[in-house]
Amino acid sequence: MDSNHHSNYKLTKTEKKFLRKQIKARHTLLRHEGVETVSYATQSLVVANGGLGNGVGRSQLRPALEKCGLVDGLLMPPNKPYSFVRYRTAEEARKAYVALNGKEIVGDLGQKIILYLNFVEKAQWKELGLQALPPGLMVVEEIISSEDEKMLLESVNWAEDIEDQNVQKSLKHRRVKHFGYEFHYENNNVDKDKPLPGGLPDIWDSILEKWLKEGFIKHKPDQLTVNQYEPGHGIPAHIDTHSAFEDEIVSLSLGSEIVMDFKHPDGVTVPVMLPRRSLLVMTGESRYLWTHGITPRKFDTVQASKGHKGGIITSDVGDLTLSKRGIRTSFTFRKVRQTPCNCSYPLVCDSQTQQSSPLLPGSAREASQLEREHVHRVYEEIAGHFSSTRHTPWPRIVDFLKALPSGSLVADVGCGNGKYLGINQDLYMIGCDRSRSLVDICGERRFQALVGDALALPLRSGSCDAPLSLAAIHHPPPAP
Ligand SMILES: [Zn+2]
Repeated sequence: MDSNHHSNYKLTKTEKKFLRKQIKARHTLLRHEGVETVSYATQSLVVANGGLGNGVGRSQLRPALEKCGLVDGLLMPPNKPYSFVRYRTAEEARKAYVALNGKEIVGDLGQKIILYLNFVEKAQWKELGLQALPPGLMVVEEIISSEDEKMLLESVNWAEDIEDQNVQKSLKHRRVKHFGYEFHYENNNVDKDKPLPGGLPDIWDSILEKWLKEGFIKHKPDQLTVNQYEPGHGIPAHIDTHSAFEDEIVSLSLGSEIVMDFKHPDGVTVPVMLPRRSLLVMTGESRYLWTHGITPRKFDTVQASKGHKGGIITSDVGDLTLSKRGIRTSFTFRKVRQTPCNCSYPLVCDSQTQQSSPLLPGSAREASQLEREHVHRVYEEIAGHFSSTRHTPWPRIVDFLKALPSGSLVADVGCGNGKYLGINQDLYMIGCDRSRSLVDICGERRFQALVGDALALPLRSGSCDAPLSLAAIHHPPPAP
């Protein structure tokens, strides 16, 4: 039986729409993901929209699939908006193809998702490659008892007066408090001559002594930053300023688990689970060379099997699911560095880059000259690292775009050659770039784009649902 053969009756409008969407899903999978579909029935199907990256968890998708037959395997790749299901027989897969195409299911956040299924010869998934934690990184589980956790969380007084000695800031995406030294987000450094009165709260004395004695840490820290993340909050990828802090940086996660992404300059990303009541220890390469950050989202991709807790989220796509985030409070301990850093990573070391005192531009012209010199030089230096990542869309941005509601209006300021304009066909994307020739390329690719300056956009304020500005404006990354 050929389910693609519909010529003996006239399709209804809805059927036509579904067919169009299904064909579009097939093209998108091939063009953006290299997933090849076939037009005859096989045991395996790719389920477009039914993926972890689309907010669909294993527990929502599996029951729907099992109604059509015995599910032999369900592969859910991390951060992808699709998954692969393998049935015991091609007949069962065909049943699912007929029954579930265009069918609506409810995702992990209560959102409605319409599934589009296509046959594949076999589930294809590129291996993530790296299966190890970044060198120098360690996650110590259950380092604190539940009672201590409660006590420590209650010890943070978020409500106290801002004039208090311990500086509290409400950053855009999370609550932050500093002890020992204030951390300045303008220069990502501390004022080493101005320690805060009071030092670290007394409650930590015995705990830090214990960690020292048990060998989890080697130095007694003198700076503490407390961050509170609500579901949906995150922190941009960054490396803690080398000249500001010594080698060892440790962070205690209380209240809720979270997945932190570590990224090597060559583009390798390692998602690491930080369970509730665990201590993350970053030393050496993981502290100096890898960036770490938390993607702002309401759920994480985690291992489904109960035994697996802390550490790397593997690419075992047969075992991934979604976990809703809770409120996480992190206590990050660092030791302020009193001498310049002499690490083995000069490219990312602010102590070792031959910069005299930082120049402050006196005029717009000087500023743009400075920008040209510095930005250009930096790009030249890291060109080797960038060559592999420059032309492919950043997966996190792809996920962001794919997660936006259908029909959203998105402006991509500094859109370049339009790399992101075609990621999600259900969005209305408008690109904008200063370069006429790049905008022309967008036009050739049949994207909507216009020539314009990011500082004077020809778009009405508030007219877009989401802005996108990548690799065009660089904000200095805040530290945890
Ligand atoms: Zn360094």
